[in-house]
Amino acid sequence: MTLNDARNRPLHDLRVSVTDRCNFRCTYCMPKEVFGRDFPFLPRAELLTFEEITRLARLFVERGVEKIRLTGGEPLLRRNIEELIAMLRGIDGLRDLTLTTNGSLLARKAEALREAGLQRVTVSLDSLDDAVFTAMNDMDVPVQRVLDGIEAADRAGLRPIKINMVVKRGTNDQHVIDMARYFRGSGHILRFIEFMDVGHTNGWKMDEVVPAADIIRTISAEWPLEPVDPNYVGEVANRYRYIDGQGEIGLIASVTQSFCSACTRARLSAEGKLYTCLFATHGHDFRALLRAGDTDEGIGQFLDRVWRARSDRYSDLRSSYAADLPKVEMSYIGG
Ligand code: SAM
Ligand code: SF4
Ligand code: SF4
Repeated sequence: MTLNDARNRPLHDLRVSVTDRCNFRCTYCMPKEVFGRDFPFLPRAELLTFEEITRLARLFVERGVEKIRLTGGEPLLRRNIEELIAMLRGIDGLRDLTLTTNGSLLARKAEALREAGLQRVTVSLDSLDDAVFTAMNDMDVPVQRVLDGIEAADRAGLRPIKINMVVKRGTNDQHVIDMARYFRGSGHILRFIEFMDVGHTNGWKMDEVVPAADIIRTISAEWPLEPVDPNYVGEVANRYRYIDGQGEIGLIASVTQSFCSACTRARLSAEGKLYTCLFATHGHDFRALLRAGDTDEGIGQFLDRVWRARSDRYSDLRSSYAADLPKVEMSYIGG
């Protein structure tokens, strides 16, 4: 079955945040001043259990979801995440199961993730320079630890690996070329992400956004690029390949070239609230239904109603919104 929203966008992918906790404090996502020692993270009992996530995921797949991405917070901090992966793999009709991680625990876990049935991973890495990287993750995690994770994922066959680099002007934009050089020819796909105004805590300013078009120009001047067709309608990254055959890169231009009209993603927070947009101001409480003993039919009908009513297009309208909308934080909703 296909379920379309109020703007005729089908429900195609689901991102599941499995924890709101993280062992990094990236300044653009969970700045230390806000996510300090006393921050009230969700207690364990409030998180959806693996059974609850799987039950919901099945209802999403019945309505057209083909791709599930596990995220967070840092998903590899969730204990026994492999068990969830194995449970999700058992869902008929799910074509693509992947996970986004900061890579710090990947060297240890890659093999088990693969064995459980994970198909691919996306690893975030913002610079190859330790001084810049540690300043961005704010937890003194060295670059090598993430590179070891990427290598382990490659060995385990979690391919193709995507590498996410959030580009912030004046912070790491001078490393765009280094990153491109390092990952060219590796078989991994480097994706440059425009710094976004998610949540309220990251001090976002438009002049810190490096437009994707500038990144393309910078890289093309060194190694000429040509555009590649999207894999499917609604793919978030604009794809380019090196003309010399050394692989491809992606650009996620959510600020300068919004793609709301093709946005087919739903996000489930760690406590079971469904957000129909990364910038949504409130979520729909699926945990309440699950824990009240509702039937699959009842929960499915709720999902149908929520998705049919969806009309979000924050990025398209960004400039006309007031800056003080009560948006949720990305670490909670899942990136
Ligand atoms: N902890 C995992 C990680 O970092 O890969 C998964 C969760 S993280 C919220 C998912 C993705 O969102 C990461 O690639 C991260 O770099 C990106 N992200 C976080 N805050 C962002 C922001 N303000 N602008 C753009 N991307 C952001
Ligand atoms: Fe953690 Fe990922 Fe956010 Fe960085 S981007 S603080 S690694 S959740
Ligand atoms: Fe989708 Fe909302 Fe992002 Fe637009 S702003 S692309 S609707 S998540």
